[in-house]
Amino acid sequence: MLELRPSCEHCNTALPPHSVEARICSYECTFCANCVRSVLRNVCPNCGGGFVPRPIRPSQNWKGDNHLGKDPASTVVRHRPVDAEAHHLFAAPIIDVPPEAR
Ligand SMILES: [Zn+2]
Ligand SMILES: [Zn+2]
Repeated sequence: MLELRPSCEHCNTALPPHSVEARICSYECTFCANCVRSVLRNVCPNCGGGFVPRPIRPSQNWKGDNHLGKDPASTVVRHRPVDAEAHHLFAAPIIDVPPEAR
């Protein structure tokens, strides 16, 4: 189950569970869409993978208790700003490899 982390790891902007700006990698490293585009260029600084929009967990109990009330979003902030220069070097050989081929 996704943790649904509360904020962007780089800029710390709030990413509540209903946010359509949240992006995650396969390890659920979580960033806002703006940072993924402008700073990370779709390369996760922690694993090198690409990002996808984070799905939105239903707030209502449509079926089987599968909703935010039962499985709430994480409140544990992970704020680890990326060093832009270091990321540039890390991402250079990865950036042109499509995520499905990394
Ligand atoms: Zn951000
Ligand atoms: Zn990652």
